[in-house]
Amino acid sequence: MSQDNNKATDRPLIHFDDVSKVYFNRSVAVKNIDLRIGSSEFVSLVGHSGAGKTTLLKLLLAEEKPSNGKVLFDDTHVHNLSSRGQTKHRRRIGMVFQDFRLLEHKTAFENIAFAMEALGRSDDEIEADVPYVLDLVGLGDKNWHFPRELSGGEKQRLAIARAVVNQPEVVIADEPTGNLDPVNTFEIVQILKKVNELGTTVLLSTHDKEVVDLLEHRVVTLEDGEVVKDQEASSYQL
Ligand code: ADP
Repeated sequence: MSQDNNKATDRPLIHFDDVSKVYFNRSVAVKNIDLRIGSSEFVSLVGHSGAGKTTLLKLLLAEEKPSNGKVLFDDTHVHNLSSRGQTKHRRRIGMVFQDFRLLEHKTAFENIAFAMEALGRSDDEIEADVPYVLDLVGLGDKNWHFPRELSGGEKQRLAIARAVVNQPEVVIADEPTGNLDPVNTFEIVQILKKVNELGTTVLLSTHDKEVVDLLEHRVVTLEDGEVVKDQEASSYQL
């Protein structure tokens, strides 16, 4: 791997410092990962199923502990934080999942408001920010729809709106287009690019070559838990 591609070298926002993770059943999920991601970068983690993408994201969220090495976020060793510190750390990261994870009995507006209430945001902030993020993802006319009244692509747009509303420094999208057709996949990728252009670091995991081709950003390829390629623009090949 060329060091030239490890661009965010000076003061990375995210630094996997020689990180390995071996699960209890002895499966080696990631091995000697040294990866630096700068503030406002858009990085795709790509690789076949089982390559270690989700494990890396869980390590960053401090949901899993490394067997070796350190995960640094903004120079803080995330696994040395107290549980309160880890909760605060996770609030700096917005999550988007393949299966959306929306609250089915709440409307689009309420799904987002709920995420704001959880952080103690005021009613005035909620009234102002929820319509703003719904507009941002093109759901301005769907405030009062329930998830069951939204298409798959719209559900994922709502999930992105929820992920960004509390202004996290990073958005992690773990296989966000895994359940979507090509048209919706294209739209979701465009929205994630927009989120990135507004200044948020985006970390996207995917096994889908088409997604990466749409991105034209840095692509880190994992194979059997190791980084085998780190490319600036997308010329991704499995
Ligand atoms: P990906 O997200 O690229 O599909 P994962 O990070 O989920 O890959 O998995 C990487 C490897 O670690 C796989 O071999 C998987 O079986 C193993 N693995 C993942 N999670 C666990 C776990 N909780 N316990 C044991 N092995 C796991």
